[in-house]
Amino acid sequence: MNLSLTVRNKDKETMILKINDVSTKQESEIIKSFFDLANKNEAHNLVEGTNIFLDANAIESVLEQEEVQDKETKSTEPEFWKTGIKYDDEGVPRYKTHYECECGNKGRRYVYKGSLDLECHNCGQPINIEPATRKIDEDGLPGRDSYGNFYTAKN
Ligand SMILES: [Zn+2]
Repeated sequence: MNLSLTVRNKDKETMILKINDVSTKQESEIIKSFFDLANKNEAHNLVEGTNIFLDANAIESVLEQEEVQDKETKSTEPEFWKTGIKYDDEGVPRYKTHYECECGNKGRRYVYKGSLDLECHNCGQPINIEPATRKIDEDGLPGRDSYGNFYTAKN
């Protein structure tokens, strides 16, 4: 078996190690040592006669990039997915609401606190809005149900 371990940098590829004809046992040993080394920042003798020198800077920069990517992925998710609260242009909060109309239309809406009904986008009839749970806080806002809804609407 031929083994090669590489570390990718943003726009270049840094080859770290290439060994031909390693046994499976050697391979797992090498891979384990490789990742041990990644944290140690030093050269190391893995298999008899095989010296491996790690470019620890390259590894660190890859790890950093992954962290940055993680953060970027998270921040692209809109905040209201998590909070269930969407603000209008004036900064007034609207709350996640699940609705189902008797015409078969259903979906998600964001409504102002205390709204009594909403209009079905499909058939135009009004649908009554109710708190999603019985737990109402002192500001009159219902607690969220297991789907994160503050309100539900059904006719
Ligand atoms: Zn409808």
